[in-house]
Amino acid sequence: MGSTLRVNPIACSGHGLCAELLPELITLDDWGYPVIADGPVPLRLAREARRAVTDCPALALRFTPQPEPGPAGPVRPGPGRSESQVFQKKRRAGA
Ligand code: SF4
Repeated sequence: MGSTLRVNPIACSGHGLCAELLPELITLDDWGYPVIADGPVPLRLAREARRAVTDCPALALRFTPQPEPGPAGPVRPGPGRSESQVFQKKRRAGA
């Protein structure tokens, strides 16, 4: 499971240091605020990404875990429901 980089736009003060440390994943917009590439941080850039997080003067950068992919197929139980409960409900409804 990879991690993605996120910026807290409230905390970020637009120093631009992160884009200098990790230009492969972070660019700056017209106002100098970071724009982070979508997707997980590639393993080959993990060290530079950690450095960008720790060196951000505003502590505005952080790692967030990449969500696990959900179960395949049309039946997806909601919170607190098992697959068999969903199946039973569908059967009662005649689906
Ligand atoms: S180094 Fe930190 S404060 Fe500066 S632009 Fe990047 S996220 Fe914002």
